[in-house]
Order: sequence, then structure tokens, then C-alpha cells
Amino acid sequence: MARVHNFSAGPAALPECVLREAQTELLDYAGSGMSVLEMSHRSATFQSIIDDAEASLRRLLGIPGNYRVLFLQGGATLQFAGIPLNLMRTGRAGYLLTGNFAKLAWKEACRYGEAEVLATSEDTNFDRIPNLEAAGERASRNDLDYVYICQNNTIFGTMFSELPPTGATPLVADVSSCFLSLPLEVERYGLIYAGAQKNAGPAGVTVVIVREDLIENGPARADICPTYLGYQLQAAKGSMYNTPNTFGIYLCGKVFRWVEQTGGLTAMEARNRAKAELLYDLIDHSELFHGTAQPTSRSIANVTFRTDDANTDAAFIAFARERGIEGVKGHRLVGGMRASIYNAVSMESVEALATCMRNFEASWSPRSI
Ligand SMILES: *Cc1c(COP(=O)(O)O)cnc(C)c1O
Repeated sequence: MARVHNFSAGPAALPECVLREAQTELLDYAGSGMSVLEMSHRSATFQSIIDDAEASLRRLLGIPGNYRVLFLQGGATLQFAGIPLNLMRTGRAGYLLTGNFAKLAWKEACRYGEAEVLATSEDTNFDRIPNLEAAGERASRNDLDYVYICQNNTIFGTMFSELPPTGATPLVADVSSCFLSLPLEVERYGLIYAGAQKNAGPAGVTVVIVREDLIENGPARADICPTYLGYQLQAAKGSMYNTPNTFGIYLCGKVFRWVEQTGGLTAMEARNRAKAELLYDLIDHSELFHGTAQPTSRSIANVTFRTDDANTDAAFIAFARERGIEGVKGHRLVGGMRASIYNAVSMESVEALATCMRNFEASWSPRSI
């Protein structure tokens, strides 16, 4: 069996040991005589699977007791609506536009209330995290229900290195592509959410971590909020108002355990920074490849780069594929290449990519194209 070096942006690489464990347990989970895929979500066995997953996640992130953890469906995208429907109590929120997903979330919020743009880097094709001062000042007027950020911008390869100073205004963050890549100070946020398929498990699970006082009175827009999307109801029902993604939650739990067993989030961050530095250092010393994100805004999860020529980019992507390196084609909004180096992508894979880039550059001559 040959497994490729997988740099896919999502769904993305999963730890091989997690896949093997799931394979071993697939027909008979823990002596139950059935697969997790076949098991009632109301069974005691599944209840212990979801309880273990939540407990493991709480240990990893140090989630305080006044935060609730939900395992929902509908991707990160459904929460673009879930957040305003639950939290826009006075009808006004602030959005920082740092990429495509932030913009989609803002557009969705505009359907339900006033969504003010507090900062944007769209004029430079989202190559940076904008200055956060103005957003902080706006938040200090204390008339926003929340301030929204997308903490790591998967497509553009940028990441917040500090959070906007929002004072008492709850900070809401889409952390889909940096979830479990590094420690998060959960207390700094009102709500954190992440689609699992980048770093935490398979597609089809969205983890929402929300401060209890923000949801205890039910959805802000109870008149129109779909019952399923009511955070308070989902919290009261243990994420089982209806049938959850049972197999997805089971796999997420295994990934959480794996992160714990490999040293937790501080160790994970150190490994991720080392992987990112290897690639950024190569890019910064290359005559062929250029980074597309401003250096102070660079992501540790998605490394975006390009040559000056789309044909050379295509030739590199083909060259990489011949060497067992998959998923490095950039998103069409940026072009070029993107290496997503999530937790399950090993240093060995990153080294293979770096070697491939060096070899391609050595064989490349401007006249050959
Ligand atoms: C992938 C991604 C999304 C979209 O996730 P879906 O699960 O496809 O809805 C949203 N935000 C970020 C930051 C992402 O990386």
C-alpha cells in the first residue's frame, strides 16, 4: 500500500493510526457485535463515545465549565447563519473580512441584521490580516452583539497572530483550519467553531464551543431560527436533538485522543511552526517561488506560494504529483500552490515537498517555458 504525501486543504490527511484503529473496530466496536456505523445514537455505547470525545476536547483546550461543546452537522457554512440567528440580539454585529469564508459569513449575517465591516484586506486580495485597532475602537462602543473573525484563512494562507481587542463584546471565531493546530485561550472568545475536516476528523462534523450565558435565553431570532440550529436546545440535548453524525464524532474523538497522546496542543504548535518555517524559509530564499501572504500574516496551517507564471505553476504541480505529492494546487481565488500542513501531515511529508521544490527549481530554466 502506497500512501501519498497529502497536502489537501480539506477534507485532509488524518493520522494513519486513527484510520487503522477505525479499520480494526469497524465490524465489531468494543465487543458490541456491531459497527459504530450501525449503532443507535441513543445507546449507552454511543453515549460513552460522544462523552469521551467531549472530555478529551475539554482537556486539550482547557475549556472552562461555563462553555458548552456541540457536535453539529451542516459544515462551518451552516454556522454562518447559526451565529447571527442565535447571537444577534440587538441586531448589530461587526465583521472582519480577511478572506472568502469571512466574507461568506458576513453576507449571511447581512440577511438577519446589520453586519458592519470593521476591517478588510480585500483591496490587496486578502494577502494580510488588516490592522486591528479600528475594530477594537469600534467594539469599545459596546453596541455590537459580537465581533466576528475567521482566524486562519485557508484559501489565502493568512492567520491572526493576535486577537482584536474587543473588550466586553464577545469575539466569535471560525477556527476551522487552525483548530487543534495550536492552543487557544477559550476564555477570550464568546464562541469558537470549526468544521472538522481540516484538522479534527472527517467532513460532516462541526464543533461549536460557546459561552453558556450567550445562549441560555434561546436563539436571538427564535421566530425564524431553525429548531436544529438553536444552540441552547442542542446544548440541552447533548448535540442529539436529532441523529448526529455518529461515525464522524467517533473519528473526531480518536483524533482528539491522538493529539493528547502526541503531546497536546503546545507540542502540536511547535511541530506545526517547524513545518511552516521549513517551507517559508525555502520560499524566501527561492528565485522561482514567492509567498503570496504578507510575512507578518502568514498561516502555520496553509502555506500559499506561486511562481510568476501559471504554466510553471501547473508544471510544478504535475512534477510534484509524479513524486507522490498530492493536493498542492492553490485555490482559484489565489492561483499558484497551497500546501496545507495540518496536524496529520508529518515533517517527513513536508521535507519531501521541500526537496521536490528544490529539485524543480534546479531543473527549471526561464527559457524552457
Ligand atoms: C473549509 C472552511 C469553511 C467551510 O467549511 P464547510 O465545512 O465546507 O462548510 C469555512 N471556514 C473555513 C476557515 C474553512 O477553512
